Amino acid sequence: MQAPEKPATAQDFLGFDPTNPPDPNQIDACVHCGFCLATCPSYRVIGKENDSPRGRIYLMDGINTGEVEFTDTSIQHFDSCLGCLACVTTCPSGVQYDQLIEATRAQVTRNADRPLMERLLRQGIFNIFPYPDRLRLLLRPVSLYQKFGLQKWVRSTGLLGKISPQLAAMEGMLTEIPDKAWRDTLPEIIPAQGEPRYRVGMLLGCVQRLFNPDVNEATVRVLTANGCEVAIPPSQGCCGALSHHQGQEAQAEDLARQTIDSFAAANVDYVLINASGCGHTLKEYGHILKDDEQYRDRAKAFSAKVKDVQEFLAEVGLTTPLSPLQDAPLTMVYQDACHMLHGQKISVQPRQLLKQIPGVKLREPIDAALCCGSAGVYNILQPEVAHELGQQKANNLTNTGAQVIASANIGCYVQISKHLEMQGKAVPVLHPMQLLDMAIQGQQLLPPAN
Ligand code: SF4
Ligand code: SF4
Repeated sequence: MQAPEKPATAQDFLGFDPTNPPDPNQIDACVHCGFCLATCPSYRVIGKENDSPRGRIYLMDGINTGEVEFTDTSIQHFDSCLGCLACVTTCPSGVQYDQLIEATRAQVTRNADRPLMERLLRQGIFNIFPYPDRLRLLLRPVSLYQKFGLQKWVRSTGLLGKISPQLAAMEGMLTEIPDKAWRDTLPEIIPAQGEPRYRVGMLLGCVQRLFNPDVNEATVRVLTANGCEVAIPPSQGCCGALSHHQGQEAQAEDLARQTIDSFAAANVDYVLINASGCGHTLKEYGHILKDDEQYRDRAKAFSAKVKDVQEFLAEVGLTTPLSPLQDAPLTMVYQDACHMLHGQKISVQPRQLLKQIPGVKLREPIDAALCCGSAGVYNILQPEVAHELGQQKANNLTNTGAQVIASANIGCYVQISKHLEMQGKAVPVLHPMQLLDMAIQGQQLLPPAN
């Protein structure tokens, strides 16, 4: 009897499969100068050439030419990349490492033969996280697990870490589930206060709307107070950032099409987003859907309207007065999220906005451009490296003496808050929109000292 035909895998080719391998022209643009090594967080922690941008580019080249096998070992080096894009900013030769790793991750997704536990974990993440309704269903048993003290017991035994360090890392991210997590509270249209200047669409994000819904509410209040009518199409879901950054291309394309459709009838001047990872992906829709004849042009037009909310507000200007957040001067540090700084080149605008709050003294941390280790689901999938980076980031931020940390990305917020707690530091982490909102409402940040 003839053996059933095995589907072609990377092992059969001993290299990448023929679907969109990393572009050899981009690979050739690398002159191996090594400037990028100094800014690469995975290289900083692991210390091996193969876990640096240059090393990974060598690997891609070797696999493309058949000199290096596409094995579990090379896949580990691709997995260890945080996708933070710091190397893209640093590279003097303009190597588009983001496109190289994107193509490589899609190859890994199609061809890697991962251990069962990891496969299940990844499937769970990609089948639940980007779908708020499914995530809400999962949160029901999770809230019981927290309510009945099981969480404390599980954490004290270290049981999960023995089964899977990734599962333990995911559990370690679990913050208390807010009451507002169970349903979306914002209406479809929120009118501007006073004379409307713009009509803007807003994306709620899939994880943020559940785990930190206050950020979306604060963003709406800041926008409406500054003359924006806000439209929130209820059919919107995940923007596809998580899938796109992890090489789940088919899923990312579906979610991108869905997002474009949700905003099709909203008739807005801009589509605004307050999470950096999502903002970067929304601006990439033209590239993500480049092979889709039906959506290609719509995707480009959609991306052209996308702005990070801080980028937008700095551009159009705040029109409403701001009050101090405390009587004494307030020392604050702004944490640059990678997809904001390296992905969207936005660093000045958030600082400009925060400095407009009376009394704010903005400090700069060392290694401001280094990833905090969150990187989407990296802190779940690669917990050791993420832990080291989280510890460094929490230290660097608090070493500035800041009384409050401003962070414009849900992933960074969770990661930094967790590491501050581990270090026993009670410094609040708030989104710049929350800080501006408080300044507009005349609220105090910290209780007055006795
Ligand atoms: S990616 Fe850029 S910075 Fe890094 S080694 Fe290549 S040319 Fe140099
Ligand atoms: S994306 Fe970040 S982690 Fe990956 S190679 Fe570049 S600098 Fe290193």
